[in-house]
Amino acid sequence: MTISAAPSHTHRMARRAAGFQPSPVRAVFDISMRPGMISLAGGNPYLPVLPIGEIAAMVGDVVERRGLEALQYGSGAGTEELQALICQVMELEGISSASQNIQITAGSQMALELVTKLFCDPGDVVIAEGPTYVGALGVFEGFQAEVAHVTMDAEGVDPDGLQDVISRLKAAGKTIKFFYTTPNFNNPSGISLSVERRQRVVDICRAEGVLIVEDNPYGLLSFDGTLRPAMHTLDPENVFYLGSFSKIFAPGLRVGWIVAPEDVRGRLQIAAEATTICPSVLSQLVVEQYINSFDWRGQIAAYAAVYAERCQATLNALAAHMPGGTQWTTPTGGFFTWVTLPEGTDTGRVLAAAIDAGVVFVPGSAFYADGGGQNQLRIAFSYAPAGQLEEGVKRLAAAIRSI
Ligand code: PMP
Repeated sequence: MTISAAPSHTHRMARRAAGFQPSPVRAVFDISMRPGMISLAGGNPYLPVLPIGEIAAMVGDVVERRGLEALQYGSGAGTEELQALICQVMELEGISSASQNIQITAGSQMALELVTKLFCDPGDVVIAEGPTYVGALGVFEGFQAEVAHVTMDAEGVDPDGLQDVISRLKAAGKTIKFFYTTPNFNNPSGISLSVERRQRVVDICRAEGVLIVEDNPYGLLSFDGTLRPAMHTLDPENVFYLGSFSKIFAPGLRVGWIVAPEDVRGRLQIAAEATTICPSVLSQLVVEQYINSFDWRGQIAAYAAVYAERCQATLNALAAHMPGGTQWTTPTGGFFTWVTLPEGTDTGRVLAAAIDAGVVFVPGSAFYADGGGQNQLRIAFSYAPAGQLEEGVKRLAAAIRSI
């Protein structure tokens, strides 16, 4: 009997599988692990700020007291208690939502997947900031949605630009499903949408029949404590709000949520159940315990203080070392700053030189669906200590000069 070669399956895959491409952030992960390499690439929260001993005791306590519940299947929407506690967290940004409006998810990444699955047919258009979160682009591409970008300036998306994009797409006969936005400390640019513009953006989308998906994992990590009202507060029926404990507590728990209008919630829960049956009950009970018994607001302030210091170190190093003609954003919260090199510079080529010089970053084109961002790059200042950030920026500047 002859044994035939192992069959190939890729040609049998659904068309949408072509959209599942490796993330450029993950692609540099292995490189960032090399000894001596400084990573400005991955936007990981700096977990050493957490008192791990106390968290360990908290997790042990949850299992001891509520183990049979924690290790069992639970409600598809999430635990009622965590839904209520999430309402308290959201109050910090002006949201007053009933707890039954909340669908708990495995991080806001799953929430993004769910809204896209519910709303986007192949060929539908999602409007997104340019640049936007690479993980959202991956989801949109996976569902064969087209992405149209709106440009940003220091105050966030330009409302007139948004109106133009909507009008142009409609004139071309396209179906726009939603505007995806990270209004606070945008990943990758660090830019926030000004309070004045929020109302205009909400009004335009409402008038044009375009939903808004407001993704807000970084909003509470404001360096000076200033919090902007969520866009959801301006039009709760047309703005889906996505929140997450990944950056204000810990991403390994995979707990996020989505607040959606009433007529969507039922279907959203069924779609969520089809994916995971229920959110992890153990993780939810740990978050409950954390919010109930720990100074979680103080912890957010402690995280923000570390990021503020690292951001300042990064900005100082950029000012000291970058070649003339380079620009960067000045974030007031979050994890990232966005660097623009002179027109014509290819940050893909800079990356190759930077790796030789001992530093990695994510090139700007990763954050656009249309080939934009060629002369731009993202610096994550959340994880590396200030001294490494300074040295990393110095190496980056040398790499830029060398190409
Ligand atoms: N949205 C944005 C803008 C992000 O930066 C991230 C994580 N980097 C996510 C969503 C997903 O986060 P999580 O699933 O951990 O909540």
